[in-house]
Amino acid sequence: MNRKRWMIGVILSAMVITATAQEKAKPEDTEYWTPVPKVVTPGKVLGDAPSDAIILFDGKNLDQWVATKDSASNAKWKVADKAMTVEKSVGDIQTKRSFTDYQLHIEYRIPANITGTSQARGNSGIFLAAFPWGAGGYELQVLDNYNNPTYVNGQAGSIYKQSPPLVNACRKPGEWQSYDVVWTAPRFNEDGSLKSPARVTVLQNGVLVQNNFELKGDTPYIGQPSYKKHGAAPIKLQAHGDKSEPISYRNIWLREL
Ligand code: MG
Repeated sequence: MNRKRWMIGVILSAMVITATAQEKAKPEDTEYWTPVPKVVTPGKVLGDAPSDAIILFDGKNLDQWVATKDSASNAKWKVADKAMTVEKSVGDIQTKRSFTDYQLHIEYRIPANITGTSQARGNSGIFLAAFPWGAGGYELQVLDNYNNPTYVNGQAGSIYKQSPPLVNACRKPGEWQSYDVVWTAPRFNEDGSLKSPARVTVLQNGVLVQNNFELKGDTPYIGQPSYKKHGAAPIKLQAHGDKSEPISYRNIWLREL
């Protein structure tokens, strides 16, 4: 057999083997049965906590929260009618526990009698990770933007001064509203440099307003965002210094990822 005929023989044999292997492929070849995903019972009503959630506020007390100014002191916002209301004299409050990656559900209500304009109208905020060294973090804005214009990268549903919401899904003042958040915390190298940026997906009242947005850093009022190394962090609720009527929160739960 010369070399050319030998090569043709090899190629033909390979084709036959391949065809046979494909004939023998079964559906089972691409099906796997373990590891089995954990069963989680969904809440009865949309927004109700599922069975594996950490309840951060169930309407009864602020046991899961502390004052940001003084972490030894309990959060002293008002609790009534299954809701907590911002107490501006107390300042920001934050969770006792720290988190890394999570899914968060939180509901808020701007009072029906809200006054003020632009940023001074029901301003609060959810710091998805509050810095351990004091002020700052990554703020998902809470504000009344139902017919209240402001800079768009500072309106409700924005990642403050970085990313305006994809749409304005605000309900009227006086109505309860929700945020559902998927937060992927930033990661840092030993030397403090950024390994991977934070990412966030947000639904406001069930409507997508942030789609896997990659944060440029923290969300300062003045200046550019930047990253500074931190680990697991609490979630903080803002008591903003504007003069408008304080807003309320309720039904706060989280699933660690
Ligand atoms: Mg704010």
